[in-house]
Amino acid sequence: MDASRLAIVKYPAEILRTKGRVVEGVTGEVRAVAERMIELMHEAEGVGLAAQQVGLAWRLFVAHVPETEERSARSDPPAATPGPVVYINPKITKLAGETAPYEEGCLSIPDITGDVLRPSVATITATDLSGKQFTQTAGGLLARCWQHEIDHLDGVLILDRMTQTGRLKNRAAVRELERNGGSRVPKQL
Ligand code: ZN
Repeated sequence: MDASRLAIVKYPAEILRTKGRVVEGVTGEVRAVAERMIELMHEAEGVGLAAQQVGLAWRLFVAHVPETEERSARSDPPAATPGPVVYINPKITKLAGETAPYEEGCLSIPDITGDVLRPSVATITATDLSGKQFTQTAGGLLARCWQHEIDHLDGVLILDRMTQTGRLKNRAAVRELERNGGSRVPKQL
């Protein structure tokens, strides 16, 4: 596979509804895909990107929640990341805190945002690019990002999670995307 040819796929591409398979080992291919995904995420100014969003049904996502005045990578729990992070075979092992609404968007569903309710604190276990397992707890936007990305790995989209108000607000725009047919996944993938 030529990772440099990967691109962000758009709803309603079938791959976005496909569950990811476990990544068996951190190979050169996995590393190349993760690097390309970070590049695409940065180009699109997103804070997270899942494998399905580049046409691959893998259990892998990348995230980069930049620090701002309101969120830090060093707070306890952190709400941002110090840089881009790769999560291979991630699992949320614990959810805590209050369930709160937040207006989420998705790089695969352009121009659509809506309130999604999620627990405010999450603990994740995943493997990094060196093959080491790590566990981390986060709050704020980082905890939300993890939950959004893991949804992608299970074929779940914000369209399924939005509040009733969000669904109604976006009904016409979603239909328009469905009419356009999304983007086709290149054949070599
Ligand atoms: Zn998304």
